Amino acid sequence: MSLRLRLALFYTGQLVVALLLFSFLMYGVLRWNYIREVDASLYSVAWRVAESMQRYWRIPSLKGLADRSTFILVRTDELVIAQSTDFGTFPVPAEAMAGRATYTTERDVNGEPYRLYTLPVYVNGEPVFWVQVAQPLQLLERVLTTLRPILGAGIAGFALLTGAAAWWLAGRAIAPVQRVASAAESVGQSADLSLRVPYQGPQDEVGRLVHTFNGMLDQLQELYARLATAVDAQKRFVADASHELRTPLTIIRGNIDYLERAGTLDPEALADMKAEAARMSELLEELLAMARADAGQTPELEPLALGPLVRDVCRRAGALPHQVDFVVELPPALDRIMVLGHAEWLRRALLILLDNAFKYTPSGSVTVRAGRQGEGVVLQVIDTGPGIPPEDLPRVFDRFFRGDPARSRGGSGLGLAIASWVAGLHGGRLTAESKVGEGSTFSLWLPVYRPAAGGTNS
Ligand code: ADP
Repeated sequence: MSLRLRLALFYTGQLVVALLLFSFLMYGVLRWNYIREVDASLYSVAWRVAESMQRYWRIPSLKGLADRSTFILVRTDELVIAQSTDFGTFPVPAEAMAGRATYTTERDVNGEPYRLYTLPVYVNGEPVFWVQVAQPLQLLERVLTTLRPILGAGIAGFALLTGAAAWWLAGRAIAPVQRVASAAESVGQSADLSLRVPYQGPQDEVGRLVHTFNGMLDQLQELYARLATAVDAQKRFVADASHELRTPLTIIRGNIDYLERAGTLDPEALADMKAEAARMSELLEELLAMARADAGQTPELEPLALGPLVRDVCRRAGALPHQVDFVVELPPALDRIMVLGHAEWLRRALLILLDNAFKYTPSGSVTVRAGRQGEGVVLQVIDTGPGIPPEDLPRVFDRFFRGDPARSRGGSGLGLAIASWVAGLHGGRLTAESKVGEGSTFSLWLPVYRPAAGGTNS
């Protein structure tokens, strides 16, 4: 049974029960009141007759006391002594026989209802006479008989009207809930997370339900979009990685074929193969690093003195091939600065920046600088190279991104993505500023570690 039908039936049922109770009450009160009035009148007439008999030993004029609808009769248990009209007799009820005044409802020979009051009159302490006063109840019976079908029809009519109104009202109240249900169904069937439940009503329970449901769909849609982007990125990553690995492999295989055909060990071909093999292992290492980062494997960090680490990287970078002046401007204070970090990854990130600077700067200089900035320390690699076009700048940290002129220089496009991940791993950030024709500055900001402040990053 639908919720709408249940609600409609519930409201209608309640109204019918209330109307029935009210009708029974009204019916009962009407009947009771009428009979009380009749009883009072019967009582007064009967007592006047009884008093006269007891006090004056005589029966008063019954005709004078009776009226058109009041019949009086005085009798012994067997004989009628006097009566107002010749209207027949009612038996004396057993209770009255025993000496107690009694009200009863009787029917005459025609089946018409009467209210009867039987009052015993005592002589020498014994009930000898009985005064019986009766009044017809036809009027009451007629009123009640007319009332019954009216009440019945009224209740049925009201029940129908209320049923229809409750059905309509429940339909209106449930409509938004039904819309939510069908929207949820459509979402389930079509997997279309852009669907929303339209609702213009007040912010009541239903309004809140619609709001919550739509909010949930918003979140689901956002999550789904993020998931789809992540899956796309992953697919692209796998495709790019395969592509990158294929190139050195093709070169190596080509050289092997050539060596086979030539039958000699051409030193140039061997050197090519060595270089490509080296490039492949470097690439594989970078891919592995990215895969580990994606899998959420983060290396353990420990307090490190930054000065010795940066000087060591600069010393090693000096050995890299370069045609520019290599300027290292590290303040002595750097030796006292500690960071919570991973030495190998930090070295690697700095080397990537220096390697890029050397790779892309044909003349001029590459400078390394360090200094305090806010709660951290910033390491900068500044070059006087060709710079990065503004449209490329936001993408240089993307995996496999390589700027146009850089393609010829060999490289995977993973270096800055790795360096940027390393910065994030240390709670820092890597940023790039560049002007085409003037040069680029890469800044690695790391939070300073203060053991005194509780042994955590500050
Ligand atoms: P790769 O150097 O292997 O191409 P990276 O991720 O290290 O990959 O760099 C991405 C791109 O950013 C490079 O291809 C290059 O176009 C640009 N880039 C990086 N460093 C510099 C730099 N110092 N000067 C100019 N362009 C740079």
